[in-house]
Amino acid sequence: MKQSQLFPKTRKEAPKDAESTNHKLLVRAGFVDQLMSGSWTLLPLGLKVITKINQIIREEINAVGGQEMLMPLLHPKEIWSETGRWDKADEIMYKLTDSRKKEYVLSFTHEEIVMDLLRKNIKSYQDLPVSIYHFSTKFRNELRAKSGILRGREFMMKDLYSAHVSEEDMVNYYEKVKAAYVKIFKRIGFNFKIVEASGGVFTERHTHEFQVLDANGEDIIYVCDKCDFAVNKEIFDGNEHEKCPVCKQGKIEKKEKTVEVGNIFPLGTWYAERMRVYFADEKGLKKPVWFASYGIGPTRVMGTWVEVSHDDRGIIWNKAITPYDVHLVELPGGKGKEIYERLKEKGIDVLWDDRNVSAGEKFSDADLIGIPVRLVTSERNGENVEWKERSSEENKLLSVDDVLAKFNK
Ligand code: ATP
Ligand code: MG
Repeated sequence: MKQSQLFPKTRKEAPKDAESTNHKLLVRAGFVDQLMSGSWTLLPLGLKVITKINQIIREEINAVGGQEMLMPLLHPKEIWSETGRWDKADEIMYKLTDSRKKEYVLSFTHEEIVMDLLRKNIKSYQDLPVSIYHFSTKFRNELRAKSGILRGREFMMKDLYSAHVSEEDMVNYYEKVKAAYVKIFKRIGFNFKIVEASGGVFTERHTHEFQVLDANGEDIIYVCDKCDFAVNKEIFDGNEHEKCPVCKQGKIEKKEKTVEVGNIFPLGTWYAERMRVYFADEKGLKKPVWFASYGIGPTRVMGTWVEVSHDDRGIIWNKAITPYDVHLVELPGGKGKEIYERLKEKGIDVLWDDRNVSAGEKFSDADLIGIPVRLVTSERNGENVEWKERSSEENKLLSVDDVLAKFNK
């Protein structure tokens, strides 16, 4: 991609109302645009990052047997009344009435919709288990939408739903998905904890949150100083310095702040009982399906990455989720086109700064956008290019072959 054609241009100043780092940097660097509070456009650079995040999620969810599909966002009131969530989740739901007085909800989640699919399609134990998911928009009337793209009123979610013949089967699969989530967040590169938490408007049971350690996060978790046990402040009714309830050796201490990037819910039979989703077991007895759901917010993941990986010059992407593999900065007398073509030929995704602006402006934009590798071609560098990683101050002069070899590894 030629940077001269990239929409939009970077900006020197952050929007006046921007409070959080992800808001300031993602807008300045041209990844997102705010339409109104909580409502964001993913611009070309932002969509490239989200596409990579989604692909990591997709690969790991497919690996545990998830089948991708796509469900609607406009739902009839009746389906939400079946479980009582039309009233119970009133605060976060966007409800609307059309010109014929019919009432609808804009999706804030999809459990009820999946239940409807299951009751139309599940007859016997032989039709189970089922594991289905989609990536789609969620609408939630969030009270505060001040943390940039961490808290949208309209945002992207990957939500997976699984249905089972027994609690045992549900729990086994739940653990598999938990392990898939660990792989996802490791591949993305987060420093995170699996945290016991409440089920909100989803369930009375405990759930597990994936919480990224971040000094500016909204959540507070307590962790054991010896084992992996961690618990969200909202359900922790013990005291700091108490013995760990799991390993019984360590002490519980307060870890200041985190951001929730994923949450998994072992929901049980509550939904099936209310929505009459039954199957015939091996003896022909009618049983409710065991149900679980699993969410990740890719847009929040992108914002969280910026919160934990930036410096005063801009964003620092890693290889896994960077919008481009390489930022090729062409200075006067450089061989931009030639090097661009050679890299592209090898499947390397390049943002080529071919603009007619000063070297200073090119370098500060490269730092702001934050692609992990910057290459400089100039008259002085001749046939070679200067290789610099965004996360380091070191420069080295390499041949284009050396660069290709580095990407081959
Ligand atoms: P929070 O407690 O932060 O409001 P939640 O617990 O209500 O989030 P879940 O219902 O667990 O959210 O949603 C699953 C995932 O969707 C979250 O882990 C998060 O990654 C993402 N998510 C939830 N709400 C938002 C939002 N308003 N904007 C962006 N992403 C969100
Ligand atoms: Mg949650």
